[in-house]
Amino acid sequence: MTNALDLSPAEWGEALRAMGQPAFRAGQVFSWLHKGAKFSEMGNLPKTLREALAVEYDDSGVTIFERFPSKLDGTVKYLYRLADGNLIEGVRMRYHYGDTLCVSTQVGCRMGCRFCASTLEGLARNLTAGEILGQIVAANAEGKITNVVLMGSGEPLDNYDNVVKFLRLLREKGGVEMSLRSVSLSTCGLVPRMHRFAEEGLPVTLSVSLHAPNDDIRRTMMPVAETYRIEDVLRECRYYIEKTGRRVIFEYALAEGVNCAPENAKELASRLRGMQCHVNLIPLNPVKERELTGATRRQAEQFQHELEALHISATIRREMGRDISGACGQLRRGYIREHEAT
Ligand code: SAH
Repeated sequence: MTNALDLSPAEWGEALRAMGQPAFRAGQVFSWLHKGAKFSEMGNLPKTLREALAVEYDDSGVTIFERFPSKLDGTVKYLYRLADGNLIEGVRMRYHYGDTLCVSTQVGCRMGCRFCASTLEGLARNLTAGEILGQIVAANAEGKITNVVLMGSGEPLDNYDNVVKFLRLLREKGGVEMSLRSVSLSTCGLVPRMHRFAEEGLPVTLSVSLHAPNDDIRRTMMPVAETYRIEDVLRECRYYIEKTGRRVIFEYALAEGVNCAPENAKELASRLRGMQCHVNLIPLNPVKERELTGATRRQAEQFQHELEALHISATIRREMGRDISGACGQLRRGYIREHEAT
């Protein structure tokens, strides 16, 4: 069954016209759905229509199956259940300016980064636009989400069409209506897709998982580096900056003995010189199946100072939700059969 959140207002217009409904119904249905309402709750719709819609569309495509609140900070990890029994994870982080939701874009991931849990079992499938949006709609019911980061399981640009459709739905009038300036999309650097994305005219913040100052080191950490060179990734970043006027964020997970020596910082700084960018340093979070370990706080601070001395702005990301395996690179996929779910 089609997830009701997959449809744009225009698509609802067509679908409802085909059901013999007046034009104004499209806006009503769209706006109810984005508030998290079920068809049965749509009070201003005729009962027969509500019933007909429920036969054709799924209004519970994404539900919060379990919550894991952190004892360390206000972070909550959500385990979401999809209509087909797949389980994905999302994380609510509380900041002084509001709540940020980290959403997944795929069930699993096929990028194979050596330090990340999301890719351990490979890719099961792409999420639809409505399934990405549904994570926000479900979370909104327990506290308004003001910012969204596409940094959960999956590589957003590997699910290009659904992610772009999701972004367009997100800012649609009458829906969740979030400004795309409050959204960050993170990619491991799929060069041709980065180029195409820069041309969509969507003002999201682009984050790029660089993690290494050169291709030799990057290849030991990320299989994608076998296909695309850092130089080409950076060229697309410059293009994105040119097209959107926004600075790019580089993510750099510090792994002990791999990429955090002072000379690595120097090489990184020389590559990023003159670019409108910021580096987010993250001491690598532990993933039990992976052998890489995180740098110490002191190493991270040294690395940051090296970069700043060379005029590259850098911060060490505050780690949240580590006790609930809700931190970067710790999210996983799962699966549950219906009878187990009750
Ligand atoms: N696939 C996209 C979206 C994932 S975002 C991407 O690669 O950018 C999640 C971020 O966490 C990425 O920067 C990823 O490289 C990083 N990450 C993965 N495993 C990590 C770990 N164990 N410790 C810290 N960061 C990690």
